Amino acid sequence: MAFGRRDARPVLDGVELSVAEGEIVGVIGETGSGKTTLARTAVGLVPPRSGRVVFDGREISGLRGRSLRAFRRSGRLSYAFQDPLRALDPELTVRRAVAEPLAVAGDLGDAEIAARVDEALETVGLDAARLGDRLPGAISGGQRQRVLLARAIVTRPRLLIADEPVSALDASNRNRVLRLLDRLRTERGMAVVVISHDLSSLAGIADRVAVLYRGRVVEQGPVREVFGRPLHPYTALLIASAPSVRAGDGPGAAALRPSAEPPAWTAREGCVFGHRCPFVIGSCRTAPAPAPVGQGRTAACHRVPQWRELVAGATPPVTAKGPPELVAAAGETDKEAGR
Ligand code: SF4
Repeated sequence: MAFGRRDARPVLDGVELSVAEGEIVGVIGETGSGKTTLARTAVGLVPPRSGRVVFDGREISGLRGRSLRAFRRSGRLSYAFQDPLRALDPELTVRRAVAEPLAVAGDLGDAEIAARVDEALETVGLDAARLGDRLPGAISGGQRQRVLLARAIVTRPRLLIADEPVSALDASNRNRVLRLLDRLRTERGMAVVVISHDLSSLAGIADRVAVLYRGRVVEQGPVREVFGRPLHPYTALLIASAPSVRAGDGPGAAALRPSAEPPAWTAREGCVFGHRCPFVIGSCRTAPAPAPVGQGRTAACHRVPQWRELVAGATPPVTAKGPPELVAAAGETDKEAGR
């Protein structure tokens, strides 16, 4: 899939990402890497310049007009926006905000919608009777985030794309939301894509992870393996900057500093990470394509695994630490806690 102006370097280029029923796939990368554009393209908010988005065997990137509106209304593919304050209408009560996707679909009567709203709020751990008539401004940030999730799951989607679902939350609410996502995939078989810059959150729940850098997937694979032994220098840099997931003997940020002599070619040519990579060589002027580097893993780097051997003199071989387990937060739900 590619997205962007035809005469410019695409915002997304050659991105291939799949997610299976009951699977959680994390998408990581720094600000500007294209994570949110990827999500918006996947749900049809912006059309790809080339490539396809396939959902349940049907190409949805080609849908237009009535068929696109019908697909969106079905709610089978749902997107939880990043910023609850901006995503929620300040004048809609919690109950009406959650009910809106069902009201738009127009398939259910009022009583059925009310029951589904209660069910969704209950699922995300919110007390519908106590909070249902409040406006977004009258509830906490953690509650707003869960209202957004309730709204995203009220249609019982088969695929949920959650954009930074825990970025604004404290530790207790973060764990609560992560456990909810884990439960949704286990109990409902829902496929989930979690876009996040918080590696430790993903380490606790994701099955696989895709690493995005300037619109390219530079590495992809099982989360334990990618976080335990990154095979792309950019992934290694991300992990070196995240003490909570970095294996104690993995390469540190100092070993991954950019080369003192940046390559002569421009950033529009060659490897997308070339100007920040300490291991760049002449052949990196040809952009590397994602290539298999193990079971279910790909990396887009000409120097896998040699670059790791170069830093091995400074740092011992890396061993996988494994993702941290989710910490049980005190009080499962607002309802149970009587708040
Ligand atoms: S292809 Fe070259 S510049 Fe790109 S990440 Fe690998 S070593 Fe670095």
